[in-house]
Amino acid sequence: MSKKGIAILGATGSVGTQALDVIRAFPDKFEAVVLTCGSNAELLIKQALEFKPKSVVVTDPIQYKKVKEALAFQDTTVLFGEEGLIEVVQYAEIGIVLNAIVGSAGLKPTVIAIQSRKDIALANKETLVVAGELIMALVKEYGVNMLPVDSEHSAIFQCLVGEEQNPIEKIYVTASGGPFRGRKRDELLQVTKAQALKHPNWSMGAKITIDSASLMNKGLEVIEAKWLFDLAIDQVDVIVHPQSIVHSLVQFKDGSMKAQMGVPDMKLPIQYALTYPARFENNFERFNFMDYPTLHFEKADLETFRNLALAYETLRAGGNKSCILNAANEVVVAAFLADKIGFLEMSDVIENTLEKVEFIANPTLEDYLETDRLARLITKEIIKD
Ligand code: NDP
Ligand code: MG
Repeated sequence: MSKKGIAILGATGSVGTQALDVIRAFPDKFEAVVLTCGSNAELLIKQALEFKPKSVVVTDPIQYKKVKEALAFQDTTVLFGEEGLIEVVQYAEIGIVLNAIVGSAGLKPTVIAIQSRKDIALANKETLVVAGELIMALVKEYGVNMLPVDSEHSAIFQCLVGEEQNPIEKIYVTASGGPFRGRKRDELLQVTKAQALKHPNWSMGAKITIDSASLMNKGLEVIEAKWLFDLAIDQVDVIVHPQSIVHSLVQFKDGSMKAQMGVPDMKLPIQYALTYPARFENNFERFNFMDYPTLHFEKADLETFRNLALAYETLRAGGNKSCILNAANEVVVAAFLADKIGFLEMSDVIENTLEKVEFIANPTLEDYLETDRLARLITKEIIKD
């Protein structure tokens, strides 16, 4: 069997490096054809020397030059920017594009990859938050597989294998609740970025870690799930489960519920997206019941963590509303990480931006890109960034 060619967009990130661990574990099955980064030249160069991909892409102009010089005598082509990303996802050698870029920068490469009839392993949830309806229509039109990497969506996807004829009644997306679970608003006024960056169960990139603390991550995942599994908004529920062992659940029309479980480790959902429909034997950590004698479940606190409520509101409003939510969130998270605004201010600013950006009922791709640009500008104006 020939090896499956993989493009890893965002190879230097948390998901990207774990995807390379998976590729490393199955050298006969997978081949890294493309690796990309934003600005982490040092790590990308190391990865390129190890995996010898056909091409790498760097989106930061200064770091691009650095990588180009470092790889001058290698067989790897070094490309720059969004144009580079758009070029590489079309390579004939690629069977699947793993999109592990953070933020709405992942949208355009996903569109081009689908239009080039590549299967997508999607970690970049922002793609579906910004333009879920449009993306899933393209997936249908071009007949490609959209394989979720996000652990909750991978769980739901795994529960649905073999159930193609059976309609879903409801799904429960599990949420750890993050480091501030159980706290009320007055207890969140003074929290620091160091506290917010300490996730109880997962080690991830900075943006998604802050999103997890503010429950925006769960909001984005509700939107992601709605589009990915073609559900009505009321069919998507969130249940807080602090241990992150049950990765999500599906309830069918006969009341039966299926859950997918395991230790919190992204390597499994990454591997499954790359091997689907097969399951490859691995030596990843196994679940031990004695480590988890009890599993807890509780309701999400939407009054304290308003971001989750805001995400549902944007889904109900439709059009470009979730795109505005996402853009505003990207700006406020960056501002929080730069100590420019407080933790609770993030939802206030997002709500304010949602009121200010013009509503478009049936956006095109260009409308989404323009909404993303405008919403960022307006959010920056609001926080005087
Ligand atoms: P990281 O911040 O760790 O990595 C992001 C990657 O994208 C890096 O390779 C980074 O390059 C690159 N990148 C950043 N900005 C741009 C840009 N503007 N254009 C092109 N490339 C860029 O993020 P994570 O790996 O944590 O998350 C990636 C995606 O996966 C997110 O959408 C997240 O929500 C999702 N996800 C992550 C999980 C996790 O466990 N980490 C779990 C589930 C979903 P550089 O390193 O050079 O900055
Ligand atoms: Mg997740």
